Amino acid sequence: MKYRHRREPGLLPLLAEILEGTANLSGAACAGRPELFDEPGADEDAQTVRYRHRAAVRICARCPALDRCRQWASAQKDLGGMVVAGRKPRLRGAQPHSERKNQR
Ligand code: SF4
Repeated sequence: MKYRHRREPGLLPLLAEILEGTANLSGAACAGRPELFDEPGADEDAQTVRYRHRAAVRICARCPALDRCRQWASAQKDLGGMVVAGRKPRLRGAQPHSERKNQR
């Protein structure tokens, strides 16, 4: 394993090094509200997941960090089943839109 040498000793330089390359999402509207954004729970029904994910998307729409979050999200390989940057995940077992239209 290869280790990098820190330039300066101390906690702040260490934190700066750890955070280097992470998105600046200061002001993120989702802070403290992970329960709306998280991926589906093991025993959570699909209707509940859709309801809270829609609520999360509405929060993203008003988020001052939306543009930065979108930029960060576009560089990620996999965002899992979470709502990120106003985008809902495609859930396993979710019906395609065309099938949902026929049920109305
Ligand atoms: S856009 Fe949404 S996921 Fe991204 S920081 Fe804002 S509230 Fe959080």
